[in-house]
Parts: sequence; structure tokens; C-alpha cells
Amino acid sequence: MIIFETMKVFLLNIVFLLLAVGVFSQIDEIDNYEFLINESATGHYISNDFFYKWDTLYVRTSRNHPLNLADTQIICLRSPEYSKFQLPVRGKVISEFGWRGRRIHTGIDIKLNKGDSVFCSFDGIVRISRYLSGYGNTVVVRHFNGIETLYAHLSKRLVDVNDTVKAGQVIGLGGRTGRATTDHLHFEARFKEQPFNPRLIIDFDNYTFKNDTLLLTSETFKLDRKRSYNVKTFTHNGEKIHIVQKGDTLYSIARKHNITVEKLCAANNISENKILKIGEKIIIPQSF
Ligand SMILES: [Zn+2]
Repeated sequence: MIIFETMKVFLLNIVFLLLAVGVFSQIDEIDNYEFLINESATGHYISNDFFYKWDTLYVRTSRNHPLNLADTQIICLRSPEYSKFQLPVRGKVISEFGWRGRRIHTGIDIKLNKGDSVFCSFDGIVRISRYLSGYGNTVVVRHFNGIETLYAHLSKRLVDVNDTVKAGQVIGLGGRTGRATTDHLHFEARFKEQPFNPRLIIDFDNYTFKNDTLLLTSETFKLDRKRSYNVKTFTHNGEKIHIVQKGDTLYSIARKHNITVEKLCAANNISENKILKIGEKIIIPQSF
């Protein structure tokens, strides 16, 4: 009996040790990203796997970075803490994301005049602020949800690496440095180093957020040669979407899909008191 008790204590100790090692190694890994950990702690973007290297020199830190998006990833674009947004520049979109002849245009070009203010779109931390060939003077900001935005061809950069920046903060002045034939902003959105169409997160025509959440799948990063940009290929693959009908409540929707109201609210980043509008899209989480 005594031997049994000793074994039990011993095994319990091992379990605690393993847990402690697990927790500490995780903290160590993401040491520099306190800002991001705090946000992920709110539970909306739970995964830590986007904490790739904090490289202050290159836009892409590793050529072979695997983009493992077997499952749909729900990215929270707007949370109570990070609800601010500003269009980087109010201007005409002169070139879309996607195939441009034989090359891929990895961002959207917006016309501006030299010296115009260029605003940071969302709160974040500056990862890169330097001159890059092609891009010219460039600022890259990483946001709390793992998405990065990139601002290129600036005539002047006004922020430094590791600066905390706010949505709407002027991060540089417009220009045509690097490979550019006219004064414009080349604006990119990236996730795990891969560019995707900025129109998925920003409505450039109405100067607003596109959505509260973004569902990323491997489809999001596929480029269709036939189309200039792939907004339409962004479908809710793998996720069920419920379109709100007359009489629906969060409780009736949750019951219908056999999930709890709490899970439904968490997946949609909404409160249980939210008034639903007819036609509104509600994400039905599958397995979390
Ligand atoms: Zn461009």
C-alpha cells in the first residue's frame, strides 16, 4: 500500500513537471510578443503557431515556411480592445492584387501624392522599417491577430522597428521609392508570411473593415489566373454559416446546431445580448 502511494505521488510529480515544462517552453518561445499573447488570451485567436520569427530585416523570414491551413482559421479583425481601423490612404485603387502579366502583384496600389500621410490600418507593432529593393522605403506592422500589413514606396518612414503603433497613426509619407513609376502606396496584407488580397479585410470603396472576422483557408492564398483578384474564392469552407432569419435568436441558432450559446458567441466575437439582424451571417463553430 505504501509503495502504491509513493508511486502515485511520484507519477503526479512527473505530470506537474511536464505541465510546467510545457507552459514555460511556450512562454519562452513567444517571449517578445507579450502584446500578442495578451490578445490571444482573450480566446479569439487561440493558436500560437503563427508566432513565426520576429525578423526585422526581411518581409519573408523563411522561403520554405509551411503554410499549414488544413483547417479553417478564424481571424478576429475587430475585438472590443482592438476595434479601431483606418484606411492607409484614401485614394483610387490603381492596381489590384493578383496576376499582373507573368508576375504576381502581392498587394494593392493606391494613388496618392508625394508627402501624403500614410496611416497604419490597425493597432500593432512595427516589425520592419527600412529600405528594401523593389519596395523602397517600407514599413511592416504585425497586428494582434497575426496578420501583417505592409506599406511600400514611402518617401519617408516615421516609425522604427519595435514601435507600438495605433490604428490611424501616421507611419510614413507617400512617395515612389523603389520600383514605382508613379507616386502611390503599395499595400499588402499577409498571414504567416503569405500575401492575400487586402480586399478580404478592407473595403477600399467604403473605407471600412470588410468584416469582424476573416476565415482563412488554403483557398485564400490560391491565385486564379483568370481573375484579377480572388475575393470570391474566399468562401466559408469547412465552416457552417447561418444566415439570420426572422425570429432567430442566438439561443435558437445554438440549439439548432447543437452547440452552446457561449461557443457561438466566442466564434463570432459577440455578446449574448447582441440583437441579430435579418440576413446577418453567423459562424457556426465545428469542433471547439
Ligand atoms: Zn504594388
